[in-house]
Amino acid sequence: MGTEYEVIVVGAGMMGSAAARHLTRMGRKVALIGPGEPAAPASHTGVFASHYDAARITRALDANADWSRLAIESMDRYADIATEGQRTFHHPVGVLMAGPERGPRSSFIDDNMRVALRNRVAFEALSGPELAVRFPYFDFPEGIIAMHEARGAGHINPRELVAAQMAAAAAGGADLYPTEALRIEETAGGVVVHCADGTQYGAQKVIVACGAFCNADGLLPEPLPLTVFARTIAFFELPEAEATRLKQMPSVLYRPLEDGIEPYILPPVRYPDGRHYIKIGGDPVDVVLETVQDMKDWFRSGGNRDVGDAQADVLLRLMPGLGHTALTYGACVTSFSPSGKPLIFNQTDRITALAAGCGAAAKSSDEIGRLGALAACGEPLPADLYESDFR
Ligand SMILES: Cc1cc2nc3c(=O)[nH]c(=O)nc-3n(C[C@H](O)[C@H](O)[C@H](O)COP(=O)(O)OP(=O)(O)OC[C@H]3O[C@@H](n4cnc5c(N)ncnc54)[C@H](O)[C@@H]3O)c2cc1C
Repeated sequence: MGTEYEVIVVGAGMMGSAAARHLTRMGRKVALIGPGEPAAPASHTGVFASHYDAARITRALDANADWSRLAIESMDRYADIATEGQRTFHHPVGVLMAGPERGPRSSFIDDNMRVALRNRVAFEALSGPELAVRFPYFDFPEGIIAMHEARGAGHINPRELVAAQMAAAAAGGADLYPTEALRIEETAGGVVVHCADGTQYGAQKVIVACGAFCNADGLLPEPLPLTVFARTIAFFELPEAEATRLKQMPSVLYRPLEDGIEPYILPPVRYPDGRHYIKIGGDPVDVVLETVQDMKDWFRSGGNRDVGDAQADVLLRLMPGLGHTALTYGACVTSFSPSGKPLIFNQTDRITALAAGCGAAAKSSDEIGRLGALAACGEPLPADLYESDFR
């Protein structure tokens, strides 16, 4: 087996597809290996991904300067990716970051303000009465203030972003192989990726960007320090008129006054079934998934109804006038590193790890993919932009 490619990216998800596009822009001969979305998740036996959805919040506001910077760099390139990939995925309806003005839980707003000033993120601070006038469909309790990021923030369609990245990578010369990698073999001259459909491909370098599945047997020489959590999300289906009434609604991240669910809420979005849904996430408990089998079982389960019902209660308290019909649930996973930042580093001279979205990487996946491409090409990560070395 020769090294027909300079770099193979394993995992056609949010980070991997971005890395593949950046590698083609850097003039590399690239292959992107990874299966598409399963048609029947409940009976699917292969791997899953964390981007099978129509909406992820995007924002430059963040309590952490590196995450804010990763988002700023990515958001700056959304328009180019949409043009190159010929897909619309960005919906800049704005974001509200709401939390206690005073007391021990005020650090959410304090940290976001500090980072916004440092990274020059434009926002408007809104007190309680102003919030009620500007966003009358929310009923925030007294003591809550908000930061409103209007420019560029809102939500992205993660499926469409991945599709755009893949189309742009293919247009740049990348070969796409929709199959699972079973084993990565390091040889004297390079790497060989052995796939589930019986094919194998050789390259000088490989990037492993398999999301929560990075630690599956046979992929990386050393397991990554990833903690994978089960996550449930609840979807309220909205009648057409209600979706129209809430057309201007921003995405929301909310730290309530008391302990419990810290929700994030997506405004009405049209899903592939043609219906509008408003989505709420934020889990009251952290359930760790230890094995690949646990993860597959969780994805197939469709989520935890008790968690979904608790999320629905939170949403209806915040939006008491919400007119809705059915309530459904979804299952997803988030994978965290010990530092709470993505992992982007070379495990060996030939194998780069690109993982740990920490529940926040969809919006920033283009910049994370770019850093993965730099690492694989032996180039330094930009230390002037980031405090973390992403190891
Ligand atoms: C419920 C939920 C809500 C979220 N909300 C937000 C949000 O609002 N904003 C935000 O910015 N982020 C959000 N995130 C986080 C974001 O979706 C993830 O950080 C992001 O999807 C991680 O990208 P990734 O490329 O690491 O993994 P994935 O997107 O999961 O991609 C991994 C890819 O690897 C492939 N793969 C796995 N194993 C193999 C193999 N053996 N061979 C080949 N391919 C393989 C999979 O098929 C998949 O395509 C949310 C996550 C969840 C679960």
